[in-house]
Amino acid sequence: MSTAHLLPAFARVDLAFDHGEGAWLTATNGERYLDFTSGVAVNALGHAHPKVADAIARQAHKAIHVSNLFRVPEQEQLADRLCAASFADYVFFCNSGAEAMEGAIKTARKFQAVNGHPERYRIVTFEGAFHGRTLATLAAGGQKKYLEGFGPVVEGFDQVPFGDLEAVKKVIGPETAAILVEPIQGEGGVRVPANMFLQGLRALCDQQGLLLIFDEVQTGMGRTGELFAHQRTGVEPDIMAVAKALGGGFPVGAFLSTKEAGEGMTPGTHGSTFGGNPLAMAAGNATLDVMLEPGFLDRVKRIGLLFKQRLAEIKDRFPSVVAEVRGEGLLLGLRCLVPNSQLVDALREEHLLVVAAGDNVVRLVPPLIVSETEVGEAMGMLERACTRLARAETPAKRGAVG
Ligand SMILES: *Cc1c(COP(=O)(O)O)cnc(C)c1O
Repeated sequence: MSTAHLLPAFARVDLAFDHGEGAWLTATNGERYLDFTSGVAVNALGHAHPKVADAIARQAHKAIHVSNLFRVPEQEQLADRLCAASFADYVFFCNSGAEAMEGAIKTARKFQAVNGHPERYRIVTFEGAFHGRTLATLAAGGQKKYLEGFGPVVEGFDQVPFGDLEAVKKVIGPETAAILVEPIQGEGGVRVPANMFLQGLRALCDQQGLLLIFDEVQTGMGRTGELFAHQRTGVEPDIMAVAKALGGGFPVGAFLSTKEAGEGMTPGTHGSTFGGNPLAMAAGNATLDVMLEPGFLDRVKRIGLLFKQRLAEIKDRFPSVVAEVRGEGLLLGLRCLVPNSQLVDALREEHLLVVAAGDNVVRLVPPLIVSETEVGEAMGMLERACTRLARAETPAKRGAVG
């Protein structure tokens, strides 16, 4: 076995896992790793959660797929529950974050078109954003390194600095349909905007007849200690994309909308072969069962706060390695003074798995079921890794990076 026949699009670490349990993964060589990557914010309930595993197995024996030609009771159930727990009236299920974003973008444009403004199709987005790898979501994200070599960039996205309300006001024109923003930028480096910024966006949308779209693909499904990150801010969107943790590890995406914003998406305007199939919905319903248990989200908040406080101690103890602690709930980041890849590698040597993000940040995204003991174990690994990196930092090198 080798990677020879895999498209070389990923720079993979030479490490493979056989199985997992909770916050732990066991490698094919038998070594155990503490997984604070969670498959990039996907495995919210950790690995091999019995409720999710059982629900998937049970459904697989009944029917994996039937198609949206027919009613899918499991889909109706998950949609009802997501709407009961959010601002939304409608849900469309798909299979990934990028696909959810595509649907969200189409819905916003369609809303303007059916409301007498077909000329309004442009969407305001933000620097540092990440919305996926399809042609339109790449254009929305606006990152040059991801767009290069893939032909003309999909038209209709206007990017301004994250957090800059004045820049948003200036860029809005007669063709603007919507504003698209992550309530916390994940890939961009766990960048948390001020509540006032999101409130300002909402006000602008209301004044100018625009829709507000939240990309909660990473921040959603309990990650920040609320079911959706925006619920902490008091600002509600018109449309929202979710995915990553929605199926507890099973690929599921969705976009949600208010009745008004979604009314233009009539039969035939959108579709998906696999989207919302019974197997995916079984995973989604089982995941939500656990997340909505009394106390689950409060526990995420509490553990997140505790972890963040302990990370602040790391920053104080290793000022040549860590410059800043960021994030909410269990979406946490360390902005590094050494290249972030060095800290990711050093932590992996300690058997703690984490993931890099933009802005020279290391993201810590443990499963939401992580225990205080496991956070304590991660702290030991962080201390050892930072001690090694701080030693390696000669006075001459210090300050050269970051
Ligand atoms: C991961 C992510 C996406 C893309 O999701 P995929 O499932 O990889 O297509 C979109 N938006 C945000 C905020 C993400 O974190």
